[in-house]
Amino acid sequence: MRLKDRVALITGAASGIGLESARLFATEGARIVAVDLNDEAGEACASRIRDDGGEAIYVHADVSKSSDCKEMIDAAEKEFGKLDTLFNNAGIMHSADDDAVNTDEKIWDLTMGINLKSVFLGCKYGIPALQRAGGGSIINTASLVAVMGSGAPQLAYTASKGGVLALSKELAIVHAKENIRVNALCPGPLNTELLMKFLDTDEKKARRMVHLPMGRFGEAAEMAKAALFLASDDSSYVTGSTFLVDGGISAAYVTAE
Ligand code: NAD
Repeated sequence: MRLKDRVALITGAASGIGLESARLFATEGARIVAVDLNDEAGEACASRIRDDGGEAIYVHADVSKSSDCKEMIDAAEKEFGKLDTLFNNAGIMHSADDDAVNTDEKIWDLTMGINLKSVFLGCKYGIPALQRAGGGSIINTASLVAVMGSGAPQLAYTASKGGVLALSKELAIVHAKENIRVNALCPGPLNTELLMKFLDTDEKKARRMVHLPMGRFGEAAEMAKAALFLASDDSSYVTGSTFLVDGGISAAYVTAE
């Protein structure tokens, strides 16, 4: 068991990467604090883990709000006595996110709040908890678009993820001697609700598919395995990384026929 006796808080645990990670981390021995806004699916995540013999609680939090982030960290320490792994994963991709000319300021602010400020707030309250535990692992979900621009515009999303990557690198250096590792998980396009709702026509999906060397979208379960590596001691010398799990997209100039 790679996370035996560890306590892991995962945001966005009601769906996609967060849900798969909560399940996988629990099978590896972690006690799970599943955080989301979607109470029904979040409760279902925690109760399924408990039904399978694991330990988990669900905490309702809007990760763009400071008080909610403080409360979710408090809940982890109150329920399980400590925090070892902080997985800042919740995020959105708004259907009205576009290029600089056409993206409304409200969409920009909303995206920055949920995708970027949330990671700052998670770390603001989570790092003292990790320090109290003697160290730990922070995983921040950025994206492939933190390192590559998208010709199908989603400017607020791209900028928010660039911020997550930059913030993760700095935190990794600042806290390296405290036994706290910080890595940015950078997924390529995934077959999850977030992207499939954004690519809401066959034409939009086909436009992306051309650029995927493996000829398929990634799966949330594949990201969970990468996150498990970053959470566990298997990655004990990995910090500050741009951890690309993108099916080879960032290596491609032109994809093969
Ligand atoms: P998803 O939509 O399946 O899950 C996201 C979860 O976050 C949902 O359960 C949602 O309720 C929750 N959430 C949204 N806003 C929240 C808020 N304010 N407070 C708390 N919870 C909130 O999406 P996913 O694909 O699993 O995405 C997870 C992360 O991965 C996101 O940060 C996303 O940007 C990133 N990512 C996704 C892709 C992709 O192609 N799907 C690619 C790269 C990065």
